[in-house]
Amino acid sequence: MQSKNHAAVWLTGLGVGVMGACSATYPTLVESRSEEVALTCLSNGRALVGPSLEVLHEAVVCFTPRQITYVGKATDSYGSARVIDVHGATILPGLVDTHVHVTATDAPPWHFRKPDAEHNLQAWLWMGVTTVFDMGGDPEELQELNTAVSNGELLGPRVFFGHEPITAIDGHPIPAIKALLPWPLDNLLASQVPTIAEPKEAPALVQRMQRRGAQYIKIIHDALPPSSPKLDPERLGALVDAAHTAGLKAMVHIGSNQDAFEAVNAGADHLAHGVYNEPISDELVSLIKAKNVSVTYTAAGFDNTREMAAGKYEPAGWIKPTTDPEIYAAVYGPPGKQFSELDVLGEFSKTIAERLTLQNNIAKLHAAGVLVLVGTDSPIAGVFPGGSYLEELMFLQRSGIPTHTLLRHATALAAQQLAPAGSKFGVLEVGARPDVLVVQGDPLTDLNTLRELTFVFAAGKEVTRTVH
Ligand SMILES: [Zn+2]
Repeated sequence: MQSKNHAAVWLTGLGVGVMGACSATYPTLVESRSEEVALTCLSNGRALVGPSLEVLHEAVVCFTPRQITYVGKATDSYGSARVIDVHGATILPGLVDTHVHVTATDAPPWHFRKPDAEHNLQAWLWMGVTTVFDMGGDPEELQELNTAVSNGELLGPRVFFGHEPITAIDGHPIPAIKALLPWPLDNLLASQVPTIAEPKEAPALVQRMQRRGAQYIKIIHDALPPSSPKLDPERLGALVDAAHTAGLKAMVHIGSNQDAFEAVNAGADHLAHGVYNEPISDELVSLIKAKNVSVTYTAAGFDNTREMAAGKYEPAGWIKPTTDPEIYAAVYGPPGKQFSELDVLGEFSKTIAERLTLQNNIAKLHAAGVLVLVGTDSPIAGVFPGGSYLEELMFLQRSGIPTHTLLRHATALAAQQLAPAGSKFGVLEVGARPDVLVVQGDPLTDLNTLRELTFVFAAGKEVTRTVH
């Protein structure tokens, strides 16, 4: 598929990049099986069924390319189905990454490479991620990519998407764009960031995003760098209200306790990062719980960035074979230290070196019953599509979320919390979208089993890994 060739900006929680640099050389990660299969049945496995991932032994799971048609005990007749015996293996629903940037790159600013959405999409599937929520990109372009995936033109997860995040005048990510890009590109791209001057502009701004296809509204409420402006509660509230009036959820990027308080009080549905630069306050934890707001921490991303800026980042072992060797070398060990020398982002790296507070904050939210979802913010420097998803799961597990619970957050609960009404996925149940994984061993007790997926079915179609 041809990607758009005009200059495009992509904005992430942490980074900024620009098209026009050289291309990266990524390995092909997945291939599809050529023949069409009308009905597939996985038999004799151990299935993790329903939103609670209840264990069903000697299970059979059948699906067409449209939906799961059977989940239960062995039957006598499979008709004309392709039957695959998965004895000894576990069948589970495909994983959900709740914070990605499909059209971004994992190349760091000191080694600019053109974003490669096709690679990113493949990398998520390689890891068993069959649904992603994009948190900041061009909705027309994301729509096009999602259509290419559903047509079978590209291999990738289903993409839900919002739009370029709305921010304060001169708010994040505008200072980062101006710091990292040469004139006049900086001004050009900064001018494409949607900003709000007056609360009364909110409805028209939200409607414009909705007309462009956005399925939710993304708002930035974080002073990054600390001296930069952020939205005030009035403008933030006007945007969230406008989103709700339009029938859309409001996802808010936050950093501090105060940001999060204001976002939740404004009616935010989801926090697209957690409080990362100070201990989370007990009052905030209670408020988030009371308002039924979910949080995606993107914790591995913050942690990797901290390590990278210190020149000590060593990506997890499964990342090397799935990425471009030059990009890998540019962030691994001492070269990664260049992050700390960047304008604006260098300042950010100092903040996190001194004040990064993740594990206790996650533990407190989880203990209070807040839904902590799994999301990576990938791809950005040091955070890889697909590969970093497992890093994130492991970080959340180390922060005290039990593995079984975590896998529910990674599948059915993410779908229930964030998906637009009427789409059923992330669950082995009749009628659900047929996103199905098979792993050897028991992922409920050992996340490492997810490193060797025996089968990945995305929308009922088998994809095989070509790299291990
Ligand atoms: Zn992001």
